[in-house]
Amino acid sequence: MPRLTVNFLSLSMVYGLWAIVSLSGCQSQRLYKDNRLMMGTYIEVTSPYSQAPGIVFEEIARIEGLLSRFDPASEISILNRTGSLKASLETFEIIKKAKEFYRSTDGAFDITVGPLMKIWGFTLHQGGAGFTDKQFRVPEQSQITSALEVVGSDKIILQEMDFVVKFEFPGMEVDLGGIAKGYSLDQAVRRLKENHIDSCLINAGGQVFCLGDKFGRPWQIGIRDPRRKGLSGDLELSDKSVATSGDYEQYYIADNQRYSHIIDPRRGYPASSGVVSVTVIAEEAMTADALATAIFVLGKKEGERLVGERFPSVEIKIIEEKDIAIRGYTR
Ligand code: ADP
Ligand code: MG
Repeated sequence: MPRLTVNFLSLSMVYGLWAIVSLSGCQSQRLYKDNRLMMGTYIEVTSPYSQAPGIVFEEIARIEGLLSRFDPASEISILNRTGSLKASLETFEIIKKAKEFYRSTDGAFDITVGPLMKIWGFTLHQGGAGFTDKQFRVPEQSQITSALEVVGSDKIILQEMDFVVKFEFPGMEVDLGGIAKGYSLDQAVRRLKENHIDSCLINAGGQVFCLGDKFGRPWQIGIRDPRRKGLSGDLELSDKSVATSGDYEQYYIADNQRYSHIIDPRRGYPASSGVVSVTVIAEEAMTADALATAIFVLGKKEGERLVGERFPSVEIKIIEEKDIAIRGYTR
């Protein structure tokens, strides 16, 4: 379920139906809301424009068709099955962008984590946002070592002249879970702008895009507290995206140890950098998404260094285990 909660959600939430909210009693200040289960999460759209939700859902459905690992006909499924793909320009560009994040995060963001996600049992069920306990297992070290041999985005070959994507080794598998929601938000916003819509809030299971503002004031976003019910802070945003990666949404606890679904691709283990949650605010949702995942792997010190050196316009907020211990929170 969403980690970022929209403050006024409680005002009205009619699933599957139009909900018209009058915030100030003024006829012209109406917000249209709708939500739909897509990409394994509820996509919630709020806008003064009644057409906005339909445009967003249509665009996200289109991208899901390209990237879904659960749809055997998607380009990503074909690539994973056959090790080679004559890609559409769009899929080619997404993989190229993902490879750039691999380089700019020193390998912390890596879409080739597929084989590691599998051996740890972190592979999602079709249509679901959660895992089953049965699937999770701590693999043998030998399994991790051999999976690591086929992990590394530098082992994805991109042929610019004919848009062919190839795996260097058999057994490689890409998993776009760390970037797909961000990419779809950016594209949905592009479609909204093409339709002259300049005000919309999209919440894709904790990753949010705030297009324009809400009747002249920034959109307000509440950040969920990592270990307690309720909100730990508010953000006021306009024309920005915010993504949070945390260990509290999808994880296993085994032998008193918390295993997050974000994998450290360098070691082959679930990330354990001491970070509980990373919130990233960026102009592009894809950047926010990829960096949140990467910083969760890198930890606070490395993460802050990376952003300072390579992404100076990006803002981050990191909560560490030790912050929570000091505040007396429990796991
Ligand atoms: P969420 O999907 O909960 O919003 P993230 O954006 O942090 O969380 O993405 C986590 C997903 O990214 C995992 O479920 C997996 O599909 C993929 N993933 C896991 N580890 C990595 C990694 N090191 N680099 C890129 N993607 C990853
Ligand atoms: Mg991410």
